[in-house]
Amino acid sequence: MEKKITVIKGDGIGPEIVTEAQKVLDKVGEKFGHKFIYTDILMGGCSIDKYGEPLTDEAVETARNSDAVLLGAIGGNTSTSPWYKLAPNLRPEAGLLKIRKELGLFANLRPAVLYDELRNACPLKDEIIGDGFDMMIMRELTGGLYFGDRKTEVVDGLETAVDTLTYNENEIRRIAKRGFDIAMKRRKKVTSVDKANVLDSSRLWRKIVNEVAEDYPEVELEHMLVDNCAMQLVRDPKQFDVILTENMFGDILSDEAAMVSGSLGMLASASLNDTKFGMYEPSHGSAPDIAGQDKANPIATILSASMLLRFSFDMDKEADAVDSAVKKVLEEGYRTGDIMSEGMKLVGCKAMGTLIADAV
Ligand code: NAD
Repeated sequence: MEKKITVIKGDGIGPEIVTEAQKVLDKVGEKFGHKFIYTDILMGGCSIDKYGEPLTDEAVETARNSDAVLLGAIGGNTSTSPWYKLAPNLRPEAGLLKIRKELGLFANLRPAVLYDELRNACPLKDEIIGDGFDMMIMRELTGGLYFGDRKTEVVDGLETAVDTLTYNENEIRRIAKRGFDIAMKRRKKVTSVDKANVLDSSRLWRKIVNEVAEDYPEVELEHMLVDNCAMQLVRDPKQFDVILTENMFGDILSDEAAMVSGSLGMLASASLNDTKFGMYEPSHGSAPDIAGQDKANPIATILSASMLLRFSFDMDKEADAVDSAVKKVLEEGYRTGDIMSEGMKLVGCKAMGTLIADAV
């Protein structure tokens, strides 16, 4: 099969980790007889430096005309980088919001898995971890507070800011369907998270999720308030299979789940639209503190490439091969600095990429 992949290396450690993921994809191509054709585009700080904006319309068109996007990370040090002195719509993150909106990437998938080899990195007690956990957070990505109308104005002599949280039933229905579809491929449980005791948008969310659930009789559905979910994630993470939630709740809960699983450098993510198209990226940021030092962990990006193979190209065998290669290299004791523990073998970003590619 021949597939076109748009590559966004981005800023900070982005170029290093994406290069390693491409190394692994090329090995998959060689082994399984596929050809991946890469086209690089700029997004984030590197695009601001070259074009004065974080993502050009031409770059969006290149992405739109490909089969999937592989992204490293964007952004710099938010206290010191000149990019953060620009107007909000010209900062690196505006590129990310633009590409999500332009390509209709409304469903964000973030797995949070505890690898047995990395139990030590998990901050929870052994009796809470048990046999480990494996959950998928399905976050709505193009609606809610982050996309609603907002303004800051002086009202009765006081500076006053307003953000609007809006969802319509179609936006809720399409993400709910995606959540239930994913649950059908997993342990068939959906926990829908809202704040229905306070918010109208959450009450509509709950009503539509209940309607969608009728089409998935095999899937167990439970509703949970967001504050309770934040507690349950550290009290008993094993109970979750698919967590389905709106944009801001998902933003916060997915970072909490990431911390609970111990290492940000291991967590992949996917953002999907209505078709097979998706954008795949690690859950972490551009780590400017370690950029260019061959210290970054490329595994989250490599696992994102594996999700790309699985969800956009239907290459399940190939994705399984990448996941198993990651596991094998961890079992053999190789670690980057962020997941290093006593008795293990410390390697850099490039060496980790090569080890995983060789294990495919
Ligand atoms: P971060 O995730 O970049 O880094 C947090 C900490 O984790 C740092 O100490 C970093 O060194 C470490 N870390 C992260 N990824 C690692 C990896 N693969 N291997 C080893 N260590 C790793 O978060 P931050 O420092 O808050 O943000 C830095 C920049 O990234 C900011 O500009 C932020 O806006 C941006 N950001 C971008 C994305 C994205 O591109 N989707 C997501 C989050 C943050």
